Amino acid sequence: MEQRIVEIEKFEAEVSDEATLRPTLWDEYIGQEQIKKNLGVFIQASKKRNEALDHVLFFGPPGLGKTTLALIIANEMNANIKVTAAPMIEKSGDLAAILTNLEEGDILFIDEIHRLSPAVEEILYSSMEDFRIDIIIGSGPAAQTVKIDLPRFTLIGATTRAGMLSNPLRDRFGMNFRMQFYSPNELALIISQAAEKLEREIENEASLEIARRSRGTPRIALRLLRRVRDFSDVADEGVITLERTRYALDELGINTLGFDEMDLRLLRLLANNKGKPMGLSTIAAALSEDEGTVEDVIEPYLLANGYLERTAKGRCATWKTYEILGMEVPQTEGSLF
Ligand code: ADP
Repeated sequence: MEQRIVEIEKFEAEVSDEATLRPTLWDEYIGQEQIKKNLGVFIQASKKRNEALDHVLFFGPPGLGKTTLALIIANEMNANIKVTAAPMIEKSGDLAAILTNLEEGDILFIDEIHRLSPAVEEILYSSMEDFRIDIIIGSGPAAQTVKIDLPRFTLIGATTRAGMLSNPLRDRFGMNFRMQFYSPNELALIISQAAEKLEREIENEASLEIARRSRGTPRIALRLLRRVRDFSDVADEGVITLERTRYALDELGINTLGFDEMDLRLLRLLANNKGKPMGLSTIAAALSEDEGTVEDVIEPYLLANGYLERTAKGRCATWKTYEILGMEVPQTEGSLF
């Protein structure tokens, strides 16, 4: 499948680049103020008591800074962090190996934690709660259960799908935080900070222009910054200007509201349904996407900005949708407008 520039998942080539631009210090992490405030208190308290931090769960769409925040927490706690993702932990033995290699106070970060298999999740319960795991060795009548004590560690889980997390797992996190989309001003700061790391000067208005078109998502903002930088380099300009930025973003086909083609297809689909709600499976089929992607990646930004409404009967367009598409708001019975 062709990769969209406002695609939120990481592009392969970006992984190492992201590492360079990733903030490592608490103060460089911009936005998510409420989360930072609360976490700051808990971090201070556990440091004072000389204890490991309670387990933390972050949820929200991809690219909003969950991994980055986990790394920053580790830095603040002066703790080692092991980063992994649920699809890499296939068997309970894989998790047991990771857990038994941890040391007191270490942090284990598991991305996409909703994708753990039930057997692996089972092991996680006792390790999170009692810092102990029971491993069965051998099979049949000769099978033996061995109890292994674990050091006190902190699990940081990240998920795009809070609804897919089992209750027992969710209950074992002492703190859970929902990540918010970033405001254009916050994104502009992130862009300026990253431009400095890339040793580029950028006009404030140019940062803001990129920010407005980034779907509230730092990962997209940084990607657009790199592309705009390319245009600026080719034009041999020492400073990334607003004019060059606008030109580059227009050339790249980035909508002024940050919508990409997929967003617009979804909005047109809903708007053409004449005010009637449309079910998730119908939408997914019409867009040739899977339901998970529609729900976790495409919809949240549209929902957060009032371009989409979720009702018990399905998804509806809002008056804002009709407005940006230049369509008339339909007058239906029980109309929302
Ligand atoms: P997630 O884990 O939620 O998918 P990441 O933590 O990988 O997202 O963030 C994507 C990129 O965006 C990172 O490379 C990081 O540089 C940048 N980023 C995310 N959040 C922030 C922030 N609050 N401040 C500065 N940069 C950020």
